Formats: sequence, structure tokens, C-alpha cells
Amino acid sequence: MLAAPERKSRFLGGGDIDVSFEFFPPKTAAMEETLWRSIRRLEPLDPRYVSVTYGAGGSTRERTHATVARILRETKLKPAAHLTCVAATRGEVDEVIRDYWDLGVRHIVALRGDPPGGIGERYVPTPGGYINAADLVKGIRAIAPFDVSVACYPENHPESPTVDAEIDMLWAKIDAGASTAISQFFFDNEVFFRYLDRVRARGITIPIVPGIIPIHNFKQVSGFALKSGASVPEWLGHRFEGLDNDQETRYLVAAAVAAEQVMGLVDQGITEFHFYTLNRADLVYAICHLLGLRPAAATAKVEAAQ
Ligand code: FAD
Repeated sequence: MLAAPERKSRFLGGGDIDVSFEFFPPKTAAMEETLWRSIRRLEPLDPRYVSVTYGAGGSTRERTHATVARILRETKLKPAAHLTCVAATRGEVDEVIRDYWDLGVRHIVALRGDPPGGIGERYVPTPGGYINAADLVKGIRAIAPFDVSVACYPENHPESPTVDAEIDMLWAKIDAGASTAISQFFFDNEVFFRYLDRVRARGITIPIVPGIIPIHNFKQVSGFALKSGASVPEWLGHRFEGLDNDQETRYLVAAAVAAEQVMGLVDQGITEFHFYTLNRADLVYAICHLLGLRPAAATAKVEAAQ
């Protein structure tokens, strides 16, 4: 029988764990307030970076820019701006890239984006636009030496015929200059490890950072999963069964589920995590605490007192 994997000492101290947090640009003043409360709560955990998504079809171009600019202006955080190729010419996308560089942004999460008609439709590049994420990465790197992250899909992308074809695309993005890949979220760690094995077997050595989505709302997250090709294991549905009108218990279960997942990853040597925060800090903060992360200011005080 295999011995249970030993817990890493870093699990207790949190010293080697790196995290990043993903937010989406707010639509209303109330949403903006929620976002900023979350950013302020998570900021002391000293993430490697925080990223801001780009709405479907480029619909949040200004709001993404404004959020990234405010993060640069008002926090010590390093922002990463998501950018897609959808519904824009190369010239228009290049202008956004140059604006980010001039603003002081040094990290872009480069994506193709979904077809304007939604997932399931065939993607048709905009005439005169970047054709896919690899093409966009190449364009970004030709403009300035940005750090570029890209997406990858442990359960395959809905448009990809095979996982090998998906890994071909990942290779193309790396050849174009991407230095990190962030995974689509998943709930079964074995899925991630199998993918990681295949990626490494294909000679890819860049960090593949697992994307983790805390489940504030099971129905909502199941909807995201359906669209993105991530599977929802039956046991997960079972855990949230009957809790639709019981928010308090739902949150406790969500925290337990996410904690089990990230600790399972840490046990196998994973030390970097990307959290899809959905602009909420509570569960993410608790999971980071379990990972050993503490507010930087508080840690500094304890160290000074010793
Ligand atoms: P690509 O890597 O270009 O392609 C994805 C897949 O499509 C490939 O694996 C390949 O199988 C197939 N494919 C594409 N082009 C070709 C081709 N020429 N020939 C053959 N096969 C091809 N969406 C947003 O709108 N805004 C965001 O901010 C955003 N952030 C995201 C962050 C992360 C971490 C992830 C995982 C996804 C995000 N998405 C976002 C969703 C993403 O835009 C979609 O999943 C989109 O459908 C694919 O984008 P991509 O960059 O992976 O595309």
C-alpha cells in the first residue's frame, strides 16, 4: 500500500506559497464598492499579482483599464490586465497594449476570447484582428517585454478535438512568448495532475498554475463549468444538496471543499494558486489563511517583536 503523502513543511509556514487573485471590472457603483472592499481585504496577503478580466467581446475595455489603473494608483499590488482578440482589429488591440505599457502595467493575461455568439459557436477572427491567443501573445511581445500569462485547459477546451491539440496550442502560446499558464478551474485534482503529466511529457516547463474557484453558489458555478467544459463531479453536487436556501451552511461547506482541494494540491507539491475570486474576499481569504499566508503587516510586527 502506498504511504499517505507527507505534508510539506511549507504547508505549515506558508513561506513558499504564491497566490494571485482574479477580479472582474464592476458595472455599478455598488459593485465597485464590493470589489474594492475585497481588494483591500486580500491586499495584505501579498499576492504575486492581481488580474482584471476583459468582458466578452471587449465589452469592458474601459472598465478593465480603469480598474487596472486604480490598482496601480492606489495600491502596492501588481496588476495584470486580461486582454482578448474578440471584435477588435490589431490596431485597436495594439493601442490598448501600448496604453497599458505607458501606464506602468507589465503583465498581460492574453486570451483569444469566446465567439461573440457564445461558447459552442464557431470562432471567426475579426478581419484584420489577431486570430487566436498565440497570435496575440506574439503581438504583445513585439510591442514591449510584458510578462504574458495564457490560459490552459486540464479538461480540454470545448473547441479542441483532443487534449494533445490543446497542448499544441499551449506550445504555440509559449513559443510566442508566454511565460506562465493559468488553468481553467477544475474540481477533481486527479484531472489536473493527469494534465500536468501530459504537459510535462510534451516538454513544457513553464509554471502551470491551477485556477481555483471557491463555490459561493453551486448553481452559478455549475453553469460556468458547463460553458467552459469543466466537469462537476457527482460527489460535489451531493455536498451542496439541499443548501440552496441555507447560505451559512453553504459557505461552510464551500470553505471545506476548497480547503480540501488546495491542500490536496499542496500535498503533491503545488505551490502556486490562481483564485477566481468573483470579486469576493471571504472564502479566498480563509483558504489563503489555511495555506499559511498571513497579512504582511501583521507578520512583520510579529517578527519585529521576536
Ligand atoms: P486559444 O488558446 O487561442 O484557443 C483555445 C482552443 O481553441 C485551443 O486549445 C484550440 O484547441 C482551439 N483553437 C483556437 N484557435 C485554433 C486554430 N487556429 N486552430 C486549431 N485550433 C484552435 N475570456 C474573456 O473573454 N475574458 C477574460 O478575461 C478571460 N479570462 C480567462 C482567464 C483564464 C485563466 C481562462 C482559463 C479563461 C479565460 N477566458 C476569458 C476564457 C477564454 O477567452 C476562452 O476559454 C476562449 O474560448 C479561449 O481562449 P484561449 O486564450 O484559451 O484561446
